[in-house]
Amino acid sequence: MIYTYVPDYVVFDLETTGLNCKTDDVIEISAIKVMGGKPAGEFSTLVNPGYHIPYQASSVNGILDDMVQGCPDFREALDGFLEFAGDMVLVGHNIKSFDLKFLYRDAMKFWGKKIANEYADTVIMSRIYLPGMSHTLSSMAEHFGASTEGAHRALADCKMTYYVYEGLKDVMDKRLAYGDVKCCPKCGSPLMKRNGKFGEFWGCVGYPACRYTERA
Ligand SMILES: [Zn+2]
Repeated sequence: MIYTYVPDYVVFDLETTGLNCKTDDVIEISAIKVMGGKPAGEFSTLVNPGYHIPYQASSVNGILDDMVQGCPDFREALDGFLEFAGDMVLVGHNIKSFDLKFLYRDAMKFWGKKIANEYADTVIMSRIYLPGMSHTLSSMAEHFGASTEGAHRALADCKMTYYVYEGLKDVMDKRLAYGDVKCCPKCGSPLMKRNGKFGEFWGCVGYPACRYTERA
């Protein structure tokens, strides 16, 4: 996982039959390829899960059984997505604890394959760089002046996430310039000031993967 901005990446989002990443399934996958900070391509497909989409899911994302008739199954859709994404950095909102789990699970199930792409999670970055505000995708998108129309459909959520990630870049740049964030010499992630037993210190946000600290 990275905590920094990269200008070339693929932002993605899923809609699912529910919130359980062990038993639920993907019913829509969308992605936007971004090159040099600018949108450069889209991938989006509804997915037929092969069973009735629970009402609770449809009531959130508006995806109904008849809409996924004739749509690819997730094996075909995931194959298309992985080809689209290549080895680019994946960016998404709350992907570490949600969306990526579906991708990892099903790539393993279909092909015994591990998805090794580096990724950035905008909900984790939002908590780091903009603490003290709501970190839902809609709140963050509004904060950065993006439209939240069509929220809870995958492609609309990708667009919002794109604005959030680009907005976080500006926040990071300002904080680096202001000096309340530094760059970790070990891993390149930001260092932030923390309070410890012996007073203030700089700690890497990559902790515990990176344990770099220095005196404040
Ligand atoms: Zn570090």
